[in-house]
Amino acid sequence: MFEDSENKDISIHGETVKPGEAKWIKIPIDRLPTGTLIDIPIYVFNAQQPGPTLLVQGGLHGDEINGVEIIRRMLFEGCYKIKRGAVIVLPLLNIFGFVHFSRQVPDGKDVNRSFPGVKNGSLAARIAYEVTHNVLPQVDFGIDLHTGGAQRHNHPQIRYTESMPESKKLAEVFHAPFYFATPLISKSFRKTAYDRKIPIIVFEGGESMRFDEYAIKEGIQGVLNVMKFVGMIDKIDPMLIERKESELLTKHKWLRAPTAGMFVPQVLNGSSIKKGEVLGFVTDTFASYCEEVKAPYNGFVFCINNQAVVNQGDALFHIGQ
Ligand SMILES: [Zn+2]
Repeated sequence: MFEDSENKDISIHGETVKPGEAKWIKIPIDRLPTGTLIDIPIYVFNAQQPGPTLLVQGGLHGDEINGVEIIRRMLFEGCYKIKRGAVIVLPLLNIFGFVHFSRQVPDGKDVNRSFPGVKNGSLAARIAYEVTHNVLPQVDFGIDLHTGGAQRHNHPQIRYTESMPESKKLAEVFHAPFYFATPLISKSFRKTAYDRKIPIIVFEGGESMRFDEYAIKEGIQGVLNVMKFVGMIDKIDPMLIERKESELLTKHKWLRAPTAGMFVPQVLNGSSIKKGEVLGFVTDTFASYCEEVKAPYNGFVFCINNQAVVNQGDALFHIGQ
């Protein structure tokens, strides 16, 4: 995969990074109401030797900070100083959401539902436009780092595109605890990349607005695994104890609240489950009822909603087999 890639200049927003160079490039997006200009910083490392170009992106959702921390640590450790090919790093795409502790931009739009974007559109569409037109044309493949939305805690996992074998291969070699195919969502970053034949895998780990040390380590290890697989680096000092299996989930579903009440999970995220096992319960505040949530099949739980007070139908456990 990507073996015949040639060494090339990387050009983003009128700036060129030649082989052997590293550079920070800033794409101006918009101003805060106070007039402060907000730009998206992009780090590019272009190695001397030829190889593919990898995009590593974090903070597409502003409150999903584990991806931002994965990228920061890798910058700090010099992990992007690869031997072959080039790395384009977008440490924090949605700066507006990040400073507001929000998934969206201030007008409520989701950047990941605004692709391919509009040059002079609203804020989310502008951010998407710059990525689509300045960054994606330079990229051979990418890793989009996310965290569970709202209070949902994701055990580290990779999502790939079924109809794109390269994306499945990348998901395999990332070697997260779980990986599975998910449909392409209209106007998402992954769909726009797919339309341009660029495979993207999506990492999900931890919960929004909280650092999760285990998810951060799995994320770093996974990005390095991918870099090694495509020949960008020759070796990795493993951060994690070698895990034998990365579980491919061929079916997955949400178990939802059977009634409103307080949700009390009884299993740890990432654990294997047995058909009929009680995974948690929903109870009212006066101990007058308690409804169990049971596993419908043998498999794994890979996401748990940490919201304690739930309404009927709220997503509680994401499970798979
Ligand atoms: Zn996200």
